[in-house]
Amino acid sequence: MESSEKIWKTRYNHPSAWEQTFPPLSMVEMVANSAAANPQAVMIDFMGRKTSYGEMLHSIRRVARGLQDMGIEKGDRVGLFLPNVPHYVAAYYGAMMAGATVVNYSPLYTAAELEHQVEDSGTKILFTLSAKALLPTALEVLDNSSLERLVVGCVAEVLPPAKSVLFRLFKRKETVAVPHDPRLTHYADLLRHGEDPVPVAIDPEQDIALLQYTGGTTGRPKGAMLTHQNLTANARQVRLIDPHPEAPDRILAVLPFFHVFANTCVLNRTVLNGGEMVMLPRFDGTQVLAALQRTRATSLPGVPTMYQALLDHPATPNIDFSSLRLCISGGAPLPLEVKQRFEAMTGSKLVEGYGLTESSPVVCSNPYEGLNKSGTVGQPVPGTRVKLVDREDPTRPPPEGEPGELVFSGPQIMKGYWQRPDADEEVFVDGWLRTGDVGLIDEDGYVKIVDRLKDMIAVGGFKVFPSEVEKVLYHHPAVKEALVIGIPDHYRGECPKAFVTLQEGSGIDGAALKDWLNPQLGKHEKVCEVEVRLNLPKTLVGKLSRKELVAEERAKAEAA
Ligand code: AMP
Repeated sequence: MESSEKIWKTRYNHPSAWEQTFPPLSMVEMVANSAAANPQAVMIDFMGRKTSYGEMLHSIRRVARGLQDMGIEKGDRVGLFLPNVPHYVAAYYGAMMAGATVVNYSPLYTAAELEHQVEDSGTKILFTLSAKALLPTALEVLDNSSLERLVVGCVAEVLPPAKSVLFRLFKRKETVAVPHDPRLTHYADLLRHGEDPVPVAIDPEQDIALLQYTGGTTGRPKGAMLTHQNLTANARQVRLIDPHPEAPDRILAVLPFFHVFANTCVLNRTVLNGGEMVMLPRFDGTQVLAALQRTRATSLPGVPTMYQALLDHPATPNIDFSSLRLCISGGAPLPLEVKQRFEAMTGSKLVEGYGLTESSPVVCSNPYEGLNKSGTVGQPVPGTRVKLVDREDPTRPPPEGEPGELVFSGPQIMKGYWQRPDADEEVFVDGWLRTGDVGLIDEDGYVKIVDRLKDMIAVGGFKVFPSEVEKVLYHHPAVKEALVIGIPDHYRGECPKAFVTLQEGSGIDGAALKDWLNPQLGKHEKVCEVEVRLNLPKTLVGKLSRKELVAEERAKAEAA
């Protein structure tokens, strides 16, 4: 039986949530208003140095002016190849104040990945640090791509105070000399351009604040065009799910800023609230626990593996978690056991949310107060609508009671993909954003993700494309066919597993193939197993099919 179309809106504990609207607001207005209202609030870098919002706004204005003096005009792309350091915050809002579109780059990118995204986005200027892990890569791309300039922050500025033993240790380990090159500008010099950027008129609903790259549904990374309004609306939506948004916030920024989850749930939400932020450069359980204890943080947004790692950490029993109030988990399913243990251990709420790059990213969340349904990703956040469509024909609802593809509409939904009208056609149906996720919506409007149409594997909060791993496997002379799927993993949520058939006469085994494969893969792509088979499942037209393998592995995991 076919159902009639049902559209769900939020039923949050805020009585006004149904009717909530989000007047157009640019990122520039948001940060300037917040700095004016909360000049004393601080951002704290990982060495404990504090920068007030007032000081941060000075840096933002100087970055904007410096970029304009270097020729950046409205709509130009400015890239950030940075970890969680204060430079990121100043460059992010400063580039937007100059009228530019920010492009986020993972600091783990190889030169090839960086170059692809630089070329696709047309990034003109890239911010980075004089760190061993970043500058050589950025320089290689500067030589080989259309990138015009690097702005290089000095690693020493984000290190422990000079003269300390720690400083010498870090410095030796992390820093590289910045070569003399007219295409390089020191970050400190950029800040000398003055504090009077030429005002740029921004249309929050049309102008693109951020190009955020994602594999989306097909695997070839595409830039999601997120407008100023998309980002500020989502920060406001996330704020509304907090029943006490006025409570003083000190948020631990351990999610990497380059990820849209951190852009919204850490950076923009904190700035909107005038909250404090403590930055950590990477996830390290010992450092996170020490920072929690030292700073009395109230909030730790994360991905499930972070919470799992903290639960497993030997120092945990000695930590005072009483300051923690709210934690939001996203990016991958949050196991119930992790949620329950974390809440019992800390006394904090840990709620599961859901979203995707194309929606800035949050579209659903369980409430912090009120009915919290485990196994679901909660209700649509205020201002958001969700419905199910038929998996084969997205213009129709699915048969009554059956799962369907989740589609969303709301002020946080992207404008489209950067220079990919073909992909826009696939991802929007009658103005609704297709997620590629298959779900159910219960009678209270809670959304449950039951499957994923797309083949992406969620390793921790990171997405791995099976086709990328398969591509590498095919380079091995013994490999005839290869398929990669995600299998359940206690620690990372999922991990990639490869299945191969071999060329006749090849004697190699799975373990040897794994040893050959993993060193060539990115950190999150590494497979946990390579299984050699005589045959791999195929569709009727003879295409290799992952579906059957996924079902097999799932059954195995359930039986275990
Ligand atoms: P990305 O665009 O890289 O952020 O990936 C978005 C995808 O991550 C979604 O379409 C889902 O497949 C997955 N995802 C995000 N949050 C959750 C969650 N709470 N539970 C299950 N899958 C999730």
